[in-house]
Amino acid sequence: MDFSNKVVIITGASSGIGASVAVLYAKQSAKLVLTGRNEQSLNTISKQCEEVNGIKPLIVKADVTDDNDIKKIVLNTIEHFGRIDVLVNNAGVGVRASILDGVKPFDEAIATNIRSAYLLTSLATPYLIESKGNVVNVSSVAAFGPIKGVDFLPYCISKAAMDQFTKCVALELGPQGVRVNSVNPGCTRTPFAEAAGFTKDNVTQLYTQRAESYPLRKVAERDEVADLILYLSSDRARSITGSVYVIDNGEMLV
Ligand code: NDP
Repeated sequence: MDFSNKVVIITGASSGIGASVAVLYAKQSAKLVLTGRNEQSLNTISKQCEEVNGIKPLIVKADVTDDNDIKKIVLNTIEHFGRIDVLVNNAGVGVRASILDGVKPFDEAIATNIRSAYLLTSLATPYLIESKGNVVNVSSVAAFGPIKGVDFLPYCISKAAMDQFTKCVALELGPQGVRVNSVNPGCTRTPFAEAAGFTKDNVTQLYTQRAESYPLRKVAERDEVADLILYLSSDRARSITGSVYVIDNGEMLV
């Protein structure tokens, strides 16, 4: 899987799965565009990538809920590298709420988890058509239904929308040589649960309980999800588009 001379944009590259996949792309000689809000973390990941392949990533500090920031990601990438080969729509937040909590949490989940991917993909598409590139959307098993015991209503809805987005755009862009796929992780060991408001103790308990209930008796590691993203965006996956890839230690079976 050689990504030399390929330009890869990763949203949410400052933490978790996005940070892991950035380093993995660097190992395959990719030119990277790392985005997120936390500049300090982006700098740390950027240094790790540069140590691997000697290529300095472009950092674009961006809040994906801000349209101007999304435009900046594409403009800066083209200005700096001149092309886009892969877009990884990974930024996401686990918005928790009940239906009684009003529409604000819903708006937040939609803005961060799907509207951002819609706008960024739209702006990147002319360049992806030019490069015959591809998109990988990071969705979730939450796309398939509610998660028992977790108040993830807005999150589940946003990820279900993302899967439909993957399929519709794959159908539209296929004839122009652009592939669009989705990776749908189950519980994965990253700062995600804490960012969603669970305490450290809750998270430890959650991982243990989940691991015990999964057929493979473990939760996923972020590198495992990163591997799948890398594969789907590589030429080895050239016949795959519109697919939704579950990586969940068997969670969906139970
Ligand atoms: P992390 O919390 O570690 O990473 C989330 C990333 O999203 C961070 O880099 C964060 O960057 C970025 N982000 C969040 N909100 C914004 C925003 N408004 N603007 C820009 N960037 C933003 O979690 P994961 O690595 O686990 O999450 C990555 C993806 O994986 C998400 O889409 C998540 O839904 C999905 N996923 C995770 C699962 C898990 O169990 N961990 C399971 C299923 C799916 P910053 O803070 O710098 O802005």
